[in-house]
Amino acid sequence: TSNSKRDPYRLDKSNAHFRKAVQKMPLGVSSNFRYWGDNNTVYVKHGRGARVTDLDGNVYVDYRLGYGPAILGHCHPEVDAAAREGQQVGTVFALGTEREYTVASMISEMVPAAELVRFSNSGTEAVMAALRLARGATGKDHYVTFEGSYHGLFDSTMWTLDTDTIQEGREPDIVSYGKGIPAAVRSLFWQVPYNDAQRLEDVLKKHGHTIAAVLIEPILGNCCGIPSKPEFIKAVRELCTKYGVLMIVDEVKTGFRVRRGGAQELYGVKADICTMAKAVGNGYPIACIGGREDIMRNYGRGVAHGGTYTAQAMSLAAAEKTLTILRDTSALDDIAAYGTAMQEGMHKILSARGIPHSFTGHPSMSGLFFRETPPSNYRDWKTSDYTFYDTLAHHLIPRGVMCEPDSREPWFISTAHDKACLDETLDTFEYCVDLTI
Ligand code: PLP
Repeated sequence: TSNSKRDPYRLDKSNAHFRKAVQKMPLGVSSNFRYWGDNNTVYVKHGRGARVTDLDGNVYVDYRLGYGPAILGHCHPEVDAAAREGQQVGTVFALGTEREYTVASMISEMVPAAELVRFSNSGTEAVMAALRLARGATGKDHYVTFEGSYHGLFDSTMWTLDTDTIQEGREPDIVSYGKGIPAAVRSLFWQVPYNDAQRLEDVLKKHGHTIAAVLIEPILGNCCGIPSKPEFIKAVRELCTKYGVLMIVDEVKTGFRVRRGGAQELYGVKADICTMAKAVGNGYPIACIGGREDIMRNYGRGVAHGGTYTAQAMSLAAAEKTLTILRDTSALDDIAAYGTAMQEGMHKILSARGIPHSFTGHPSMSGLFFRETPPSNYRDWKTSDYTFYDTLAHHLIPRGVMCEPDSREPWFISTAHDKACLDETLDTFEYCVDLTI
């Protein structure tokens, strides 16, 4: 690594662009999460493989991958060629095409719970559709989510644990993510601590007759990558069956990433309904809902689902190519091997300095946690030294390691992350740890 890497970057062009963009767009961006401050918001020139270049020419090894999608790296030549070929058909028709069946069949083969498949454009849409399907199939309105989950932008799921209210002897508050989310929604769901089957059973025993679904992320992809304990997710499966409640497994982040068959394969559990997005199309907007045939047939028996852009031709062709690569090559093993090597390297650096730490999740999407024992739920996250993470991230990003500045987001790996990326990452990591101490 050259010495220049040791110096933090400059964002002159990004900052100039921000000042222009903010005049036309709130916060100067298209998603609130992309605003990192008036003098810190990065604008991308292009991404190639595992690297992203910004307007100022700063190059980063990218561990965000757009929050997960670019599993084969940015601008993957084969996927992009397939997308262009797919586009030749035309883009949208408000009619079906043959390729939908081809891709649906591939998904069914890889994810056994997806006996039948419907497409959507984003994770949010897929989870919305899944929740409606569960309500339509059961005739019940209520649902259960877990603390620390994120299931998309819609009103039903934009509720979270207020970590400032964690105190002995009282239950912490569950609050909406912000204004504009009707308070009335709060009466429709229960939110219980992750990895706590007893708490789930307490709710299902009492209220199961009004609950359509338990909505679960098998690995908390937006909360340090905290994984389900194997016995917990199996208990969720059993409790759902016992109390006549559908189990929706939200694999928007884990799907086609942690295993070909997602976290369901990893844990050996089968959802009633599952949702996949992100890795399905390597960044092209496509998502899917898969589920048990008798449940899925409710689309067609009065449960509404659709959308102008569902199964849009370009995304569908990109998905066919991406899934083919993930299915037929060692891609996922390679990604996990990189993740493991990165963890080992970080572990060595942190241990040598006596810094308590642990890793969570799966090597392909892992969280770095500054406490000896990894967290098992969102309440635990508070007990880690997350401010150490924040400071470390703010040293890493300007020096070319693009991790998420929020410690609750895992580090995502793609097939494009190679030995050079790893060496550079660990070298910069070591340097930045010393800056942080
Ligand atoms: N579900 C999970 C588990 C997610 O991680 C996300 C996004 O990060 C979503 C749903 C929403 O997906 P999208 O951003 O594509 O709408």
